[in-house]
Amino acid sequence: MTSQTLLLILGDQLNRNSLIFEDVDTKTSHFMMAEVLDESSRYLSSKQRTTVFLSAMRHFAENCQKDDLPLFYYSLDKRLASFSDALDHHLKNTPFKTIRCVLAGDYRVVKEINHWTNQHDISIEWLPDQHFIARQGEFKRWLSERKQPRMEYWYRQLRKERAILMSGQSPVGGRWNFDQDNRHAFSQKGPDALAETHQFKPDKITKDVIKAIHQYLPDLPGDLDEFNWPVTLNQAKQTLDDFISQRLAKFGDYQDAMWLDQPFLYHSRLSVALNLKLLSPDEVIDAAIQAYERNEAPLNAVEGFVRQILGWREYVRGLYWTHKQDWLQMNALNARRELPQLYWDAKTDMTCLNQAVMQVLTYGYGHHIQRLMVTGLFSLLWGVKPKAIHEWYLAMYVDAVAWVEVPNTLGMSQYADGGIVGSKPYIASGAYINRMSNYCQHCRFDPKQAHGEKACPFTTLYWAFVDRHHDLLSQNPRLGMQVKNWQRKSKSEQKAIRKHAEKLHRQLP
Ligand SMILES: Cc1cc2nc3c(=O)[nH]c(=O)nc-3n(C[C@H](O)[C@H](O)[C@H](O)COP(=O)(O)OP(=O)(O)OC[C@H]3O[C@@H](n4cnc5c(N)ncnc54)[C@H](O)[C@@H]3O)c2cc1C
Ligand code: SF4
Repeated sequence: MTSQTLLLILGDQLNRNSLIFEDVDTKTSHFMMAEVLDESSRYLSSKQRTTVFLSAMRHFAENCQKDDLPLFYYSLDKRLASFSDALDHHLKNTPFKTIRCVLAGDYRVVKEINHWTNQHDISIEWLPDQHFIARQGEFKRWLSERKQPRMEYWYRQLRKERAILMSGQSPVGGRWNFDQDNRHAFSQKGPDALAETHQFKPDKITKDVIKAIHQYLPDLPGDLDEFNWPVTLNQAKQTLDDFISQRLAKFGDYQDAMWLDQPFLYHSRLSVALNLKLLSPDEVIDAAIQAYERNEAPLNAVEGFVRQILGWREYVRGLYWTHKQDWLQMNALNARRELPQLYWDAKTDMTCLNQAVMQVLTYGYGHHIQRLMVTGLFSLLWGVKPKAIHEWYLAMYVDAVAWVEVPNTLGMSQYADGGIVGSKPYIASGAYINRMSNYCQHCRFDPKQAHGEKACPFTTLYWAFVDRHHDLLSQNPRLGMQVKNWQRKSKSEQKAIRKHAEKLHRQLP
């Protein structure tokens, strides 16, 4: 008998509580999951990222099959190029008339599947993704009522409405925001001894995925000598427990700090489990609040952490779907340069960039400030085409999915959106990196110098950026001072900086 409905599960929808599992009639419907080559090669995805996705998908499929759910799984060795190919192949063998699928995390995939269904006269129902805290339409309504739709107000609204860290109508502790208490740099001694991260030894499934990647996708960037990401629900929960018991208490204080050879510090490393939908944002937030209530973590840490998930994560998702068609066309700063080669091989004398890129190649990870104020900042100051840097971020980080990566990269980090995500470009000189890390102490450049042999490229390019965009920056009350500082420099100093910036552009491959 023809099974009428195909229940399509995409790689970042590994959530047994999603709507696709509700009221399933196994006589008239069946599930399908597919590993398609394009998702790792045409739209580049590093070895680490591809392994996370495919291993988590295979574990999830195994779990569904154990529960006797009728699931067809196509692995890489089927060599299906795209979702369209996978659907063609499946339709031939197992006819169906309708597809149901939870909304994809990338508008490109929605378009591809819609196009395929139109061509094959198959109907499709996109189900809302209930993994998020905001319900369908909630962000849109909020946005329509706001003149200044900044993250802070969205975050406060969600906190009030969901009674998260609230004491009646007031925020717990009397303040919405503890940023003033957060964001310290480490002392000269660096971080205290950090607890070891959980070791998730690759099991047979992960080893098979790694083998398949070497066989079918050998040219992907990055390497797999170190692979230690949670790929099952159980491992995701262990990562959450590790964060709550070992790191949360200092998360707020050192949220923005960086330290040589310390990729994770007090960060949660939960984005990948959250974005694959192994963990729900509610359970992560609840776990942090419970630690606060048990007096195991201070309020500045817990509020700072909740803000990232309830505030930023929900906010960027709302913005992604608001501007879905437009993001990849945005280029408010008219940036035209190619992405420097160092982003692919970490070959650079700039210690901060070497550290941040090396980490991405090795683990597929960078914490927020490394992404924003090292790799992102350099690209912004260098003037890299927004689409090129977006493709790099989407490819290289294990947690990258378009709905979260695009607004963070094109909006927050590159200001290609002209101010949708943030009110100003995040620009800084080497002085910021020097303040927040010990990288500069291990670097041949000097963050204070803007020209000459030892000039820090961040500092040179920062002033060149201020010079290039002085009209735009002068209009922003928060950046006008930086333009004034540039204007206060002598003509000869300005000339030397411009010349040094040109030299850097000529030299860097
Ligand atoms: C240029 C750029 C690109 C980024 N791309 C991604 C991406 O592809 N995927 C992704 O999940 N995050 C992205 N982020 C946001 C953030 O850097 C990562 O979520 C975070 O570094 C993940 O590490 P962690 O789990 O240890 O986070 P923690 O520092 O422990 O933070 C806790 C959680 O808060 C959430 N979070 C924190 N900041 C943000 C943010 N700005 N937007 C959305 N969620 C946030 C994440 O779910 C994270 O797991 C990007 C940031 C920048 C500046
Ligand atoms: S001196 Fe400049 S290039 Fe070197 S680590 Fe510091 S900020 Fe980075």
